[in-house]
Amino acid sequence: MLEMFSLKGKTAIVTGANTGLGQGMCVAFAEAGANVCGVARRSCQETKEKVLAVGGKFIEVMADLSSTEPVKRILDECIKEFGGADILVNNAGIIKREDAINVNEEDWQQVLNVNLNVVFFLSQEFAKRAILKNKGGKIINICSMLSYQGGIRVPAYAASKSAVMGLTKALCNEWAAKGINVNGIAPGYMATNNTQALRSDEARSEAILDRIPQGRWGTPDDLMGASIFLASSASDYVNGFTIAVDGGWLAR
Ligand code: NAP
Repeated sequence: MLEMFSLKGKTAIVTGANTGLGQGMCVAFAEAGANVCGVARRSCQETKEKVLAVGGKFIEVMADLSSTEPVKRILDECIKEFGGADILVNNAGIIKREDAINVNEEDWQQVLNVNLNVVFFLSQEFAKRAILKNKGGKIINICSMLSYQGGIRVPAYAASKSAVMGLTKALCNEWAAKGINVNGIAPGYMATNNTQALRSDEARSEAILDRIPQGRWGTPDDLMGASIFLASSASDYVNGFTIAVDGGWLAR
């Protein structure tokens, strides 16, 4: 039965692979048997070492995901090295904290470019190639608690993550019949660079911890189970859904 969770013979593309949740998912996929293509704008050396340590194969594709320019090259380089791409995790994301009244157009656009626009066009390129080969695939979009809630002082982030959850459903409706599963994971409050500012603000950090039923911040390891499930054939009839991995945050 556990065979259905195996990723043996599969290749996963993970964006934002150099650190945080992306790095954790690269290692999880390698442990489950997949080849991993890590996409990042900085070196993925640390991720590569962790993947090799669990017996996996890893290539790095350097790409700045603030524009759609590298989209085709990412697929090309992955396919050239591993012969295909079966899983795409749209994980790279940025957050900018500012009172809504002061947000400027440049910051707004930057967040939307990385968190939403590139997510769509990379998914489109992945799907084009999967459809051409008639072989299906798995897309996992990394959403957020702010796919459900508004947050404080992060309006572009909330808008982008709400949109990504909507996009997950929209793409499911078009691509499910082509054998492509499009699902999301909404991490709760996880201890990564993304939440560094929150965690170093004592009052905010305490308020957040108080509200998490499980009583602790999440870690990259906490995403392992959900990401392997959504990447594997164990989730073949799961489509268009976003799974919260949040220590119970949304239940409050
Ligand atoms: P992180 O440590 O800041 O990782 C974000 C990743 O995205 C990094 O690898 C970052 O690269 C990459 N990235 C950002 N802009 C990029 C660009 N223009 N081109 C290429 N790569 C770029 O934070 P994380 O927590 O692991 O975040 C991963 C995802 O989870 C994000 O989508 C985030 O919104 C989401 N998320 C996080 C939390 C949380 O509590 N941590 C909760 C919900 C959702 P650099 O290292 O070069 O910046």
